[in-house]
Amino acid sequence: MPTVSSFPVIRHEIAGVPVSELASKFGTPTYVYDAAKIEERIRDLQQFDVVRYAQKACSNIAILDLCRRHGVVVDAVSAGEVHRAFKAGFAAHGTPHPVVYTSDIFDRDALELVVKHQLHVNCGSPDMIDQLGAVSPGHQITLRINPGFGHGHSQKTNTGGSSSKHGIWHEQVGECLARAKRYGVEVTGIHMHIGSGTDLEHLAQVCGAMEKTVLEVGRSVTTISAGGGLPVPYKESQTYVDLPVYYQLWDATRQRLQEKLGHKLTLELEPGRYLVAESGFLVTEVRAIKQSGENTFYLLDAGFNNLARPILYGSYHPMSLDVPESRSLSEVVVGGPLCESGDIFTQEEGGLVCRRKLPSAKVGDLLILEVAGAYGFVMASNYNSKPLAAEVLIQDGQPKLIRSRQTVDDLTRGEVIPA
Ligand SMILES: *Cc1c(COP(=O)(O)O)cnc(C)c1O
Repeated sequence: MPTVSSFPVIRHEIAGVPVSELASKFGTPTYVYDAAKIEERIRDLQQFDVVRYAQKACSNIAILDLCRRHGVVVDAVSAGEVHRAFKAGFAAHGTPHPVVYTSDIFDRDALELVVKHQLHVNCGSPDMIDQLGAVSPGHQITLRINPGFGHGHSQKTNTGGSSSKHGIWHEQVGECLARAKRYGVEVTGIHMHIGSGTDLEHLAQVCGAMEKTVLEVGRSVTTISAGGGLPVPYKESQTYVDLPVYYQLWDATRQRLQEKLGHKLTLELEPGRYLVAESGFLVTEVRAIKQSGENTFYLLDAGFNNLARPILYGSYHPMSLDVPESRSLSEVVVGGPLCESGDIFTQEEGGLVCRRKLPSAKVGDLLILEVAGAYGFVMASNYNSKPLAAEVLIQDGQPKLIRSRQTVDDLTRGEVIPA
């Protein structure tokens, strides 16, 4: 199990590369990823038969390629993510399924693509079974089950219970089997993803629900998936889940089911955040420092157009500055450039603006938003016509550009003034 992190407020390098060098070479704001950290997190999970990366957390094809080279397969939640997986070298077929389409709906593009490539589908709504069965009889699917309870670090990340839109309600398994039978669709997997912030007491409950559902579906099931939701610490007070215990609970569930079914079951895990969060750093520049009443504001060249988690969920990201150790600490508010008062990185859920103890800064200093690899770049937008940031991957001490910064021409591409 990884040891608990500490988050120093002064940082001079990322994965052995000086922050100043990264900023001068690639500009700011730039997302920088440490490949070694992703590799380390993949190794942590090697006990599981299959690690399926939930690529929505950070879907750059260079990151997908890195995962693929380390034996990880992928989950795709849209046609676009399926295309990314293929572009990163994943095949359509293999054991385990290299790419699984997981969603609560098929849009028309996704259904067409899934049928064309005969991709395995993890269905989160009963309607998906009919829509798939009608055009691809005999298809193999997984059912994503909502066991009727959930867990998540916020209302917006809770993925179980009756107020979650995700998954097939646990009382409708029988109905889904009837639908599948109508089209010759075969249910070969059961999946439960109960949201980020998994704790172990809660997990025992999920395992119990998994067991009940698999037995209800019966001997066609060959794979069970524990979903994602493995936490990473964003603060010193937070920890990792106890991975050996987490594995034991799932493995025991698998073994009990194997005995009852009389055949082997594959145990999959579907982490997003766990693999990439800590690898990611958003390197920004302090562009203005101002005093408003009792508050000091550091205003950066990055805003919620680059990193939306604070404004969406009140998420906390550790921050550091690339400044001399001699700088004194002070309590400051950190915000971005957008014309929106919510464009504040130091906020709690509900939008409450808070202060952070950081080294005193000067305009031009580099500020790094840390643990930003998951749900960072992928949630970026062009709000205020800001180009998307560059992305850089550091491997063996070598920083490589994996996405060039958008240009102003990119911003208006596809726009037309009618004649
Ligand atoms: C988002 C998601 C994951 C990954 O969640 P994390 O909390 O990032 O681990 C896994 N499976 C499914 C179906 C998801 O939607």
